[in-house]
Parts: sequence; structure tokens; C-alpha cells
Amino acid sequence: MNTDNSKSLFERAQHSIPGGVNSPVRAFKSVGGTPLFIKKAKGAYVYDEDGNSYVELINSWGPMILGHAHPEIEAAVRDAIGNSLSFGAPTSREIEIAELIVSMVPSIEKVRMVNSGTEATMSAIRVARGYTGRNKFIKIEGCYHGHGDSFLIAAGSGAVTMGAPDSPGVTPGTAQDTLLAPYNDLEAIEKLLDANPNEVAAIIVEPVAGNMGCVLPKEGYLQGLRDLCDKHGVVLIFDEVMTGFRLSKGGAQEYFGVTPDMSTLGKIIGGGMPVGAYGGKKEIMEYVSPEGPVYQAGTLSGNPISMAAGLTMLNILNTQPEVYQKLEETGKRIRKGFEEGLEKLGLNYTINSVGSMITLFFTDSEVNNFEDAKKSDTALFGKYFHGMLEKGIYLGPSQFESLFLSTALSDEDIDKIIEANYEVLKKIH
Ligand code: PLP
Repeated sequence: MNTDNSKSLFERAQHSIPGGVNSPVRAFKSVGGTPLFIKKAKGAYVYDEDGNSYVELINSWGPMILGHAHPEIEAAVRDAIGNSLSFGAPTSREIEIAELIVSMVPSIEKVRMVNSGTEATMSAIRVARGYTGRNKFIKIEGCYHGHGDSFLIAAGSGAVTMGAPDSPGVTPGTAQDTLLAPYNDLEAIEKLLDANPNEVAAIIVEPVAGNMGCVLPKEGYLQGLRDLCDKHGVVLIFDEVMTGFRLSKGGAQEYFGVTPDMSTLGKIIGGGMPVGAYGGKKEIMEYVSPEGPVYQAGTLSGNPISMAAGLTMLNILNTQPEVYQKLEETGKRIRKGFEEGLEKLGLNYTINSVGSMITLFFTDSEVNNFEDAKKSDTALFGKYFHGMLEKGIYLGPSQFESLFLSTALSDEDIDKIIEANYEVLKKIH
């Protein structure tokens, strides 16, 4: 595979951009080699600057759930562009998307649009603090909630991939208000709540963790968090930036039947444009400025192009239940194919999956939390990643990520993924 153009672009990029990329995980640092510079994408395929094509299993880290260059979303964006790119003033589309989100996501009675998942989680914590009058919050180890200071403590995703789950630059003063508990451990949460009476404003959790690889909540875990929050007057925040509109049209909260007080959204909600949102119970969201005292704002928040893309995406997801059926079936087929491949090769690695999120962990142990995920053989993952790339399959370049499937994958694409997985595993053992 010739990647000379990507190589020279990466070399050039490093002179003017830190590490040559605008988001660390893109640099392929933990798997080695040169990141692919992508020129275009269509449906289930991405094309790099050297003309190689790959089956797409990153999908911009989640947003492209219907595949790339979806004709309705593109048409909506083109149409919106004709009326100028940004006004910084209210538009009717913002009401439409807010009403749609409220109708789709069980916990959300009011919603505020922002520009990224990071903004959504930072704002949600601020509002929870304002609402409860408390300072601390509980974060789950290995969950990633964007790069806000108070979340960069035992963080997953790119932070752990880069070896910086606790980032320099976060002050001890900030860090002391973030309390940590392992995923799937209700006892640890209970201990923290008992040790910090009336001090904890919120628990924030990925209802399915996607940032330490895919890790599912054990039976009763989410409901247990709900019960503990009710008992201690704590705001339960589900960070559904990844799972929102992916596991079902109402997100993981609908999928598992547990309703948080607040939710954060991103990725799919923008249809590929930069968007995030946070919302929740009316009595909490009424604390947000200008209705209430908690300040949060944005020059480009709710901008018309992002709203047009997001609204079209959400309308499709809301009215076409077959999307989720297809994603569920595709996820099951890939999982089964991976399992059969492992069995044929006598390998015992762990596969975690739900709906259209899947991770093959290079460890024989169950993976129920961050400590388990870190037992994976990341060097072997690196070989697997490059093997898959050689076979034309584009995965997230880190063990601590999930695959994101799209509806654009054809039967042939699915077979190709399963076949490549088998061949590569065989080669690297
Ligand atoms: N929350 C979760 C669960 C995420 O997966 C991410 C990003 O991957 C974020 C928050 C941050 O979103 P963004 O990268 O849009 O700031």
C-alpha cells in the first residue's frame, strides 16, 4: 500500500501543527506509523490522499451513522448555506431541533445547543453545581467527557492512548473536586457519597463506555446510580455524546430504561457538523442563563448550518426505525464473525458489543472497567490495526476505542471486515 502522500503531508503538518494533528488520537502515536490524510468519503468508504480506499469503521468517531455524504443531509446544508453561514441570533430551526430532541430523549425537557461534546459536559457540570449549590462531582475512571479541565482525570479515549489520562495543566484545586470511582462499581460510589455528605453535585457517566473501548454497564448498574443519586440529592448526568441517537433514537437511557436528570449530546446530533447539546429536567435547565443565574453562551451556538445538518439527521433517525434494526443486525453479524474467527484460531480474546458499538480487546479477561481494559496487549493491537489497514479496513487507531458502524455498510463490506479480521489475527499469532 503506497501512502507516500500521507507521509509527506504528515511531515509537513508537524512544522505548523502540534504533533501534526488537531486532535491527538489522529496521530497514530500508540499504533505507530503515519496517519492517513483523508481526501474524501462516500457511504461506507474513505479515500486517502494516495487514492487508497478503506471500509469505514471510525465514521468521524461516531457522527456519520448513516455513512458519508448522505444526500438528504448534504442537500439540507447546501440549502442553508444560501441564507448565509451565521447570524448569532435566534432562528426557527433551533426551536425545531430542540422540540425534536425533547420528543426523542426521555430525560430532556429543555435543551441548550453548544458546539462540541466538551462544551456540553463542561456546561452540564456547571449547571448541576449551580442547581445543587455543591462543588464536587463523581467521574468514572476510563470514561472520557471531552477535554474540560475537571474531566482530565483518569480519562479515557485519546488521553489514555497518549499516556496522559491526568493532564499537566489541570490545577490541584480543580482536580480535588473530581472524585473517582471504577465503572460498574456501585459500592465505590456509595463510599464516596458517604464520605462527602452534601458535597457532591453530580455523577457523570457514559451509560455505555466507549472511551476505554466498549464497556457495558452490568445489569442494575445504571439503575443503582439512579437510586444513589435520588438518595443523596445528586444530579445524575448521562454523557450520551457517543451513545445518543446511536443505541436507539432515545439513546442509552431509552435502551436500558433508566432516566438521568441531565444528558449531554454531541457527534450524531450535528450530522457531521460541530454540534453538542445538554439538557434535562425543566427545574434544572431553568438555572441556565438568561432564564437563571448559571452563565453559558456561544458565538456560533445553534448556527444555521449545523442546525440544518443535525435536524435532517435527527428527522431521519426519528422516522426510520429500520435504521436501528439494521445497525443492530450489522453489529450482531460482525460480532458473530469475529467470534467464529477467534474460535477457529483457538484465541480467547474478549469482545464487548452493544448495537453498533464493538471492541475486540486483546485480553482473555472480561472487561468491565478501565483496569480490565488496560490489561489488553496494546502492542498486539498495533499490529492488528496495521494489518486491518493493509486489508482496507479503517479502525480507530487505539485499543481504547470502539468501532462505530454505519447503515452504509453492505453485506459485502461486512464479509470483508470479518474475513480481514480472521486473516490478520492469523498472521499476527
Ligand atoms: N463525551 C463523550 C462520551 C465523548 O466520547 C466525547 C468525544 O469523543 C466527548 C464527550 C467530547 O466531545 P467533543 O470531542 O465533541 O468535544
